[in-house]
Amino acid sequence: AAQEGFEPEEVEGAIDEAGHGPLPVLAVVGRPNVGKSTLVNRIIGRREAVVEDKPGVTRDRVTYEAEWAGRRFKIVDTGGWEQDVLGIDASVAAQAEYAIEAADAVVFVVDSTVGATDTDTAVVRLLRKAGKPVVLCANKVDGPSGEADATALWSLGLGEPHPVSSLHGRGTGDMLDAVLEALPEAPAQTFGTALGGPRRIALIGRPNVGKSSLLNKVAGQDRVVVNEIAGTTRDPVDELIELGGVVWKFIDTAGIRRRVHLQEGADYYASLRTAAAVEKAEVAVVLIDTSESISVQDQRIITMAVEAGRALVIAYNKWDTLDEERRYYLEREIETELAQVAWAPRVNVSARTGRHMEKLVPAIETALAGWETRVPTGRLNAFLGELVAAHPHPVRGGKQPRILFGTQAGTKPPRFVLFASGFIEAGYRRFVERRLREEFGFEGTPIHISVRVRE
Ligand code: GDP
Ligand code: GDP
Repeated sequence: AAQEGFEPEEVEGAIDEAGHGPLPVLAVVGRPNVGKSTLVNRIIGRREAVVEDKPGVTRDRVTYEAEWAGRRFKIVDTGGWEQDVLGIDASVAAQAEYAIEAADAVVFVVDSTVGATDTDTAVVRLLRKAGKPVVLCANKVDGPSGEADATALWSLGLGEPHPVSSLHGRGTGDMLDAVLEALPEAPAQTFGTALGGPRRIALIGRPNVGKSSLLNKVAGQDRVVVNEIAGTTRDPVDELIELGGVVWKFIDTAGIRRRVHLQEGADYYASLRTAAAVEKAEVAVVLIDTSESISVQDQRIITMAVEAGRALVIAYNKWDTLDEERRYYLEREIETELAQVAWAPRVNVSARTGRHMEKLVPAIETALAGWETRVPTGRLNAFLGELVAAHPHPVRGGKQPRILFGTQAGTKPPRFVLFASGFIEAGYRRFVERRLREEFGFEGTPIHISVRVRE
C-alpha cells in the first residue's frame, strides 16, 4: 500500500491525494551509468528497477512522489533518455535543459570513481547559467576509501560534493537534507494551477463591448451565495457564478460593473486592471463588439491574454445588431486582423437577447482542456520524426538544420523544447507549431516552443 503514492504521474499542476497544492519538483540529472536510477530508487524507497529501460524515443520521463523529513516533493528520473538517438552528450544536455525548464532544484549525479568528464563540465555550465539550485551528488562512494574521489569534485565549482553510495544508501540522508534546503516550499509556477477552487475567468474587452451586460446575463438568478461553497475565501471584487452546473470564479467583476468613467488616464487604469485580471485568471474571455470594426485596442487586449499564457475564448457580442453586409465585413476582419488567434474557440453571442449564451461554457471548457494538454514524449517524437522526414528544413549556407528531439516541458499553457542541429528559421517554427496544432489540437491555448541548438 505504501507504494501507491509512487505511481508515475505528470509534474505540473499535480494535486496530491490529501488535496495539497502542487509539490516542488526535483530533477536528477547526469551521464548514463552514474547511478541516477539507483539513486531515485533509493530516495523513493524502492528496490526494484524504476522502469525497464526502453531504448529509443519511446520513453517518457517518469515522475514519482517522494518524502524526506516530512516534506514531500516530486522527483523526475531522467535516466535512459534518448541516448541512441542523440548521442550521450546531447542526451545529457537535454536532461539538463529539461531540468532547467521544469524543475525547482536539481541533483547532479557524477560517478566519483570516474571523476569529472567533459560532458559533466558542459552540464555544469548549463546548470549554472540557469541559476536553479543544484546539489552535487558524488556517487559510488561505497566506503571511506572513496571519499577522496568525492573531494576532487569540488573542481566542478558547484559547491560541496555530497559523497553518496546510491547502491548501499551511504550518505544519501545527508544529501537529501541538502536537497530540502535547496527546494522551495512550493513550485515556482503556482499561479496557473488548479488548486481545487473554481476555475478562474477574466472577462475582458475594451469599454462598451458589453462586459457588464454579459456578466449580468450569465449571472442572472444563478449568482452563487458564497457561504454555500465550503472553503472558498472570496476576494470582494471576484464573483462566483454557476454556469452549466459548474461554479466559476469571474475575476474583478467590480471593475466590470463600475460604471464610473474616470477622466484622466482612464485607458491606462483600465488596461492595468485588465492585465491584473488576466494574471489572476486561467482563461480569458475576450469580448468583441461586432457592431464596430475590430480595433487595435481589441488586438492589444487579445495579445495581453496570449502573452500571459492564458487560455482564450473570443466572444463576438452584439450579434443581434448585424445585418448581412456588416456580417460579411466582420468575417473578413476576423480573417485578417485576428488570424494569429484562429485557434481560439469562437462564440457569437448577444448579451442583450441572450443568444448562444449556452455556448460560452463549452467554449471555455474546450480552451481549458487545450491549455492543459500534455503530449507524451514518445508520441511527440514519433510526430516530429515524420514531420522532419516529410518536410525537412530548407538548406541554408550548405547546411540543413534538423529537429532532433523534443519534449513538452510544461502545460498551462503547453511549452515545448525542441533540440535541433542548427538554427531553425522562424517560418519553419511556425510551420511546426501549425502541424503540432493539427496533430494534437491545442484549441484555445497559446503554445510556446523554444529551440535549443546542439552544435
Ligand atoms: P543511470 O544510467 O545513471 O540511471 O545509472 P544506473 O542507476 O542504472 O546505475 C548504473 C550502474 O551503476 C548500475 O550497475 C548500478 O548498480 C551502479 N551503481 C549505481 N549507484 C552505485 C553506487 O553507489 N555504487 C556502486 N558501486 N555502483 C553503483
Ligand atoms: P462594458 O463597458 O464592456 O461593460 O459594456 P456594457 O455592458 O456597459 O455595454 C455597453 C453598451 O452596449 C450598453 O448600452 C449595452 O446595452 C450595449 N450592449 C451590450 N451588449 C449588447 C448586445 O449584445 N447587443 C446590443 N444591441 N447592445 C448591447
